[in-house]
Amino acid sequence: MPETEGLVFDIQGYSVHDGPGCRSLIFMSGCPLRCRWCANPESWEKKYALLFRETKCIRAKRSCVRCQKACPREAISYDGSKVLIERRHCRTCESFECVAACLNEALVLSGKVMSVDDLMRVIDRDRQYWRGDGGVTFTGGEPFFQKEFLKETLKRCREAYIHTAMETTSFVDTKVFLDTIQYVDWLFVDLKHMDNAKHLEKTGVKNELILQNIKTIAESDWPGTIMVRTPIIEGFNDDDENIRATAEFLAALDLTEINILPFHRLGDSKWKQLGMEYPYRYSEATSPEKMDHIAQIFRQYKVNCYLGSITPF
Ligand code: SF4
Ligand code: SF4
Repeated sequence: MPETEGLVFDIQGYSVHDGPGCRSLIFMSGCPLRCRWCANPESWEKKYALLFRETKCIRAKRSCVRCQKACPREAISYDGSKVLIERRHCRTCESFECVAACLNEALVLSGKVMSVDDLMRVIDRDRQYWRGDGGVTFTGGEPFFQKEFLKETLKRCREAYIHTAMETTSFVDTKVFLDTIQYVDWLFVDLKHMDNAKHLEKTGVKNELILQNIKTIAESDWPGTIMVRTPIIEGFNDDDENIRATAEFLAALDLTEINILPFHRLGDSKWKQLGMEYPYRYSEATSPEKMDHIAQIFRQYKVNCYLGSITPF
């Protein structure tokens, strides 16, 4: 794929989440992290993801065998009415005959190749609905995973006076980070745990680069808004010790705002559609009491805390 083209797995218009005002959210494929609670696991690889939506499959009623017949790699078999997919055969598949063969959209591909022009056409179309205070938010996945495509689209938005926000892990080379955010107005930077070993255990990467990038930008003269964002995951990062360490880190950098997100189980169905077991399947949503408790700790450090993904500004 040329660097002027990108893989986008979803676009949500008219959203009130992830930035000020009404926004178009651009979900970009590819991510260097593997968070165990991820709500968008189809974004992990920068390639099409094969989703199997069991509720749409008619095999139980019609003894359908279309996908098995179509697959040139013998990746599909059946256990009665159940469709079994040997995913290791699919990793290098580029033809996806099974998807074309399935007439019920039980097998679908996540991801669409778009040029910068394609994406700008969608953004221009949505623009009339934002009014004065909205814009575009790049999320994913990790938008930096497609850094050339991202930067080119950001530049085009800047030329068109479009407000840009970005949700990032900031797990990216600092030079690339600084070079790109000159075209960004608002940054959500995820900070998942202050402890390096725990961060590595649940996300697959260490946190040093992330902390370094937050520090670099907080100490720079970048004129945009930086908002550190922490998803609250029970038993991982919701203990007082970690919350205090996060608050101390922010306060030392004069960062006076944090956005905390309660845990939800929305990723469960997508993990299933990808043939994976969701590790947080039986976890409960974070209680309002727990969120209030965490917010109070931040306030002790003079760090304002807003809850949820609706941006109250
Ligand atoms: S993605 Fe390719 S290998 Fe996998 S089931 Fe479909 S056709 Fe077969
Ligand atoms: S082709 Fe589609 S509907 Fe038929 S068995 Fe396969 S997944 Fe199910």
